[in-house]
Amino acid sequence: MSNNFDFDLFVIGAGSGGVRTARVAASQGKRVAIAEVSDLGGTCVNVGCVPKKLFVYASQFPELFHAGEGYGWNHSNQATFNWNTLRDNKSNEIGRLNAIYQRLLKDSGATIIQGRAKIEAPQRISVNGQQYSAKKILIATGGWPRIPDIPGKELAVSSNEMFSLAELPKRAVIVGGGYIAVEFAGILNGLGVETHLIYRGNQLLKSFDSDCCAKVTEGMIKKGIKMTLDTNVSSIAKCHQQLNINLDSGSSITADMVLYATGRQANTEGLGLENTKVTLNDRNAIVVDENYCTNEPSIYAIGDVIDRVQLTPVAIKQAMVLINHLYADDTAKLDYTNIPTAVFSQPELATVGLTEAQAKQQYTDIAVYRSDFKPMFETLGQGSDRTFMKMIVNKTNDKVIGCHMVGHHAAEIIQGVAIAIKAGATKSHFDSTIGIHPSTAEEFVTLK
Ligand code: FAD
Ligand code: NDP
Repeated sequence: MSNNFDFDLFVIGAGSGGVRTARVAASQGKRVAIAEVSDLGGTCVNVGCVPKKLFVYASQFPELFHAGEGYGWNHSNQATFNWNTLRDNKSNEIGRLNAIYQRLLKDSGATIIQGRAKIEAPQRISVNGQQYSAKKILIATGGWPRIPDIPGKELAVSSNEMFSLAELPKRAVIVGGGYIAVEFAGILNGLGVETHLIYRGNQLLKSFDSDCCAKVTEGMIKKGIKMTLDTNVSSIAKCHQQLNINLDSGSSITADMVLYATGRQANTEGLGLENTKVTLNDRNAIVVDENYCTNEPSIYAIGDVIDRVQLTPVAIKQAMVLINHLYADDTAKLDYTNIPTAVFSQPELATVGLTEAQAKQQYTDIAVYRSDFKPMFETLGQGSDRTFMKMIVNKTNDKVIGCHMVGHHAAEIIQGVAIAIKAGATKSHFDSTIGIHPSTAEEFVTLK
């Protein structure tokens, strides 16, 4: 039956989820095609996780230079920063990764088709005018920045453009209070840009534990970011070579660049969904069941386009669950609880499990442990960074149900803690674990 089709599986989108699905299915002997309209690797590799983290590293050097003096280092020549070097070295590294993705796909036996794919019928796709048939289609087209409709929105940039700016602005306004806004605020501020963050709510990163949000906000302000909360941008206007960013409070800020980081929407435009029974939810994301099947039995969707948890490791796990479901009769579903995540803000935030507010809603008797201290690095380093750790325990069975951290290496530390929580560790397990001394992470096994 499957021989009547050009392919067993046609994947649309070579990002985190699409590449993993195509590679694994092809390496299992399935005839797989993967269409990509842009660069292989998708958002994460090209305009997301990878270049963002490289920029975060770049932005941390001024503080490290300063800390070095306390440790006896003298750099008599003043440090200077060259944006073009960073941007171009980053692009070369991304080019290297694109080539690796191409090799991995080719080696697995998948056919790479460059171009925008459109679904013409439930088992038919066109790319660049060429028609293909496939037994199954996977939509893994990711998301795209969403900028609200305000006068002058065409003068704003999104995170996509931040990775290839011709010049670094002197003054920048960032709008939003989520992951991308706070990460770019830290990057630009660290690179020496006068950075304003405008957020319409009263607490940044509002889905995270509120103590941690407060610590991140405090730390960002201490580092020099100019923060305006409870305010939104009403319009943007160009005046000579500058932008006037008008706020609904009546005041305005002059800057060279406005970055909108106000969320992302599923990439479904022009996909040809009208030729299928695939349905969208009220956020325009594709509706799927727990096996990632859409309302059209031959069409599946994973990753940001289904708008569950928009993270690369989640898209990759969804790919594996889908492959097992399609080709191994495995009915295991993805467990969406205890997904660890980090915001590479400065200070960094990482978390796994329930926030204190969520824990209070779900359990009657919880214990909350907190620790707030100056990390050893800052003693001679003379910086102002602090570390904050928080653990939430369900007192009825002693299980640790949430761990949160703000400070140096938070992501690295919480990744390990997440394994313990996934394994059902209790507070007594943490307490009976011997610490690694001297380290920051040891605080998690000595919380009183
Ligand atoms: P994508 O990776 O977006 O891939 C979709 C692909 O489909 C794209 O390459 C696109 O060009 C292609 N495409 C779209 N339509 C078509 C079509 N019709 N035909 C052919 N191709 C098409 N996540 C983390 O876990 N950690 C991070 O640190 C992190 N940082 C991020 C920073 C930024 C600035 C952004 C924007 C995102 C970040 N993310 C991070 C989120 C992460 O990038 C996404 O969750 C992940 O890339 C989603 O993978 P995906 O496969 O669903 O889609
Ligand atoms: P987020 O959903 O994290 O944040 C969007 C922000 O924009 C919120 O603060 C929201 O405010 C605000 N906002 C929404 N609409 C408007 C509006 N009309 N006017 C003003 N403000 C508005 O989205 P991001 O764009 O930051 O990131 C998208 C996703 O990408 C993230 O959710 C995350 O899953 C992923 N990502 C992951 C990263 C990581 O793992 N480190 C890094 C970067 C992105 P409000 O809260 O009031 O609605």
